[in-house]
Amino acid sequence: MDAAAFRKHGHELVDWIADYLEEPERYPVLSRNSPGDIVRALPASAPEDPESFGAIFADFERVLVPGLTHWNHPGFFAYFAATASGPGILGELLTAALNQQAMLWRTSPAATELEQVALGWLRQLMGLPATFEGVIYDTASISTFHALAAAREARVPAVRALGLCGRDLPRYRVYCSAQAHSSIDKAVIAIGLGHRSLTRVPVDEAFRMQTEALAAAIAADRAAGVVPLAVIAAVGTTSTTSVDPLRAIADICRREHIWLHVDAAYAGAAAMLPTHRHILDGVESADSLVVNPHKWLFTPVDVSAFYCRRMDDVRAAFALTPEYLKTSEGDAGAVRNLMDTGIQLGRRFRALKLWMVMRSFGASGLREHLARHIELAQRFASWVDADPRFTRMAPTPFSVVCFRWEPDGTGAAATLAPPAADAREVALDALNGRLLDAVNQSGEIFISHTKLNGRYVLRLAIGHARTTIDHVSRAWQLLQDHAARIQESV
Ligand code: PLP
Repeated sequence: MDAAAFRKHGHELVDWIADYLEEPERYPVLSRNSPGDIVRALPASAPEDPESFGAIFADFERVLVPGLTHWNHPGFFAYFAATASGPGILGELLTAALNQQAMLWRTSPAATELEQVALGWLRQLMGLPATFEGVIYDTASISTFHALAAAREARVPAVRALGLCGRDLPRYRVYCSAQAHSSIDKAVIAIGLGHRSLTRVPVDEAFRMQTEALAAAIAADRAAGVVPLAVIAAVGTTSTTSVDPLRAIADICRREHIWLHVDAAYAGAAAMLPTHRHILDGVESADSLVVNPHKWLFTPVDVSAFYCRRMDDVRAAFALTPEYLKTSEGDAGAVRNLMDTGIQLGRRFRALKLWMVMRSFGASGLREHLARHIELAQRFASWVDADPRFTRMAPTPFSVVCFRWEPDGTGAAATLAPPAADAREVALDALNGRLLDAVNQSGEIFISHTKLNGRYVLRLAIGHARTTIDHVSRAWQLLQDHAARIQESV
């Protein structure tokens, strides 16, 4: 593709993207494809001869667009709603064009140092102490993996050289709440401790880790010769966005000399708001923290910010420089080589889009959107609370509402005596599943579900920059309309 063709197709593509961003609602938010549609529509082998960009783009529109679930649709309320904002998309375009591999400082001084600057800004906005050094990974799962690998490096003697097998070592333990994210399970598996080395601590009625239960689990493990390795506190759990009591957990970890990692992948961004600064109370004595700008900070996937007070432990676990990557500035210790802070060698220039987003929105713009999302969620929660046919199933500390349709209006399923309660619960689970499918088939909104205390629960997650009160009202209307239709049909 020569420069003239690139310019032509680039302009066309940017026009297409601008239209898309302006009017994502012309598409159903949830793809209506059936499994295999895309594979069947495309040739089984790569073309032998070059094809024109026009032909490729035509197939993109014809075959792939119907197979897109539109995360950039303001009716996207599933999982954690996210936004690829204009400045973030432009940053991503530049990242691809520049193709920086920021493994060594010299392979991209700009990418290396901008990462430090952008993460420094984000750290300040969230009120994290300057003792936290930052590095960008692709996802929170990888951030948490590195936290646990560093904790293992710090605790297990000579683990880097000798590993865990065939040695006289105690059993090690990692703790998180019953509501913590599955990425922790995967990290525990990946660092070779075995899945059973993860203890899930019970939560209270608001889905927060019970600190007495954590302390008791640690004491019992110590008595049995098991060595506590790390605790993960969640600031914004995935199902309900509950916030674990960070300060109390931090006190236990400090007393017990256990690595404390904070999973603030979604909700950490809210610490930018004066109203929510308290969610990170106690973070100064945590060892590491993850927050994902690609969740609630308007930056296209994939940017996960990992902060660590003991980055030297990460480096001790992973730094390894073969001859062909040695540099004079690296040997002199004059620079930071990002390949030292993790398992990856080549690294994308991810800081660019984050930096562009922070500058374009400004701190005030970021705060405005976050506060607006929280306000919209409180409005939706108040509608649920006021309607006897629906029940809120968890507190709403941020922008996610967990609720359930309970058609007979009792709102008190839990108080029924078993086995009547069981039968009723099973029926309600099925009805809520039908309601979820019905509203999602509308094409106007996409919501997801979770289970709380064994019950099927609907989740409305507000987080797209273009989501307004009209979209949230429409979601509520659709839920009520489809609930009425389902009730008529049963
Ligand atoms: N931690 C929490 C609390 C999450 O909600 C999620 C995903 O939703 C993750 C970690 C994993 O995020 P990622 O997809 O960036 O690995």
